[in-house]
Amino acid sequence: MPADPALPRHFWLPIPAGDQNSGKRHAFRGRRWEGERSGTTVCAEEVPMARPSEMDWITLPTCLNCYEILRKEQD
Ligand SMILES: [Zn+2]
Repeated sequence: MPADPALPRHFWLPIPAGDQNSGKRHAFRGRRWEGERSGTTVCAEEVPMARPSEMDWITLPTCLNCYEILRKEQD
């Protein structure tokens, strides 16, 4: 099956930090989260992964490092 270059090669997942007021929505390589317990973000952080809550999606800001890296790759 030929790879479709239009398909996204990354996905976003909110990663809450230990305290309530930090954490970011990071990008990860791949099509989607498959239930892994940890992973490496596009910005090269090793983070624990878990199913995010609705609030995580709403409240956690996008990681600007991940955003910038992906944006540059699309140029
Ligand atoms: Zn990041």
